[in-house]
Amino acid sequence: MTKKLIGGHVSTAGGLHLAVERANAIGGNCAQIFSGSPRIWQRQSLAKVETNKLFSEQEKYGVERIYIHALYLTNLATENPELATKTVKALIYDLSFASHIKASGVIVHVGSHQGRGWDSAKDIIAERLTEILNNTPTDSVFLIENSAGQKGKVNSELAEIRWLMDKVQNPRLGWCLDTCHAFSAGYGLAKAQPGKALLIDEIEKYQLWDSLKVIHVNESKGKQGGGIDRHDNLGMGEIGDQALRELLTNKKLAHVPLLLEVPGFDGNGPDAENIELLKKIVS
Ligand SMILES: [Zn+2]
Repeated sequence: MTKKLIGGHVSTAGGLHLAVERANAIGGNCAQIFSGSPRIWQRQSLAKVETNKLFSEQEKYGVERIYIHALYLTNLATENPELATKTVKALIYDLSFASHIKASGVIVHVGSHQGRGWDSAKDIIAERLTEILNNTPTDSVFLIENSAGQKGKVNSELAEIRWLMDKVQNPRLGWCLDTCHAFSAGYGLAKAQPGKALLIDEIEKYQLWDSLKVIHVNESKGKQGGGIDRHDNLGMGEIGDQALRELLTNKKLAHVPLLLEVPGFDGNGPDAENIELLKKIVS
């Protein structure tokens, strides 16, 4: 049996290698980080991003994989040319950064069509995804995340993820499933909460098993189908441990790393307590 990869989003304050220590301190063997502040565009030149200490700390603490979460400012569906240029540039940086630090993927919220509808936004999104993939190292992986069903947000429907995969046709494009977002978008995570469709049935229907590379395990403050993106700690939200267990112990997901993006019991993000709860849920 291969070891289950479980971790959470951690801070890089003070240096990248400290993220590894933080992941280990909460009991994780993988981690998610930002390449810089998620609320500003500015990034450090890659030549200045030191990796030796990072790699040795990963080795020392057994933190096997690192994922990058893209910044919050991007919108691949935007009609604003300036924002589009900044978005493409920032995501090219993040994929290059990922390659530089040997990260396993960059997780991206595709963005919002701002009311003009999926059909009028989808082609430009695919074009921009292709442009980014064509201008980044071939060992970098681009993971689009499902959204929570908020008005205008792209990718709340798995059908849209499927469409983008088919249009872009690049094995470096995969997706990240967020449990809170899927639940808020109306999917059922377990048979007892069917919702608009059972999530695993939809993954099967759209053949999205192989391209699913990572799972954000988050509880949801909002109700099923409520369309709001508010993460909660494990054991506290509307989804329930039982439903999370039913989903996460599905054999087809056994190899997929699990990353927490929960608020934390002290409000400082993923903590040892949430990791413990997650380990119990999947054990
Ligand atoms: Zn997420």
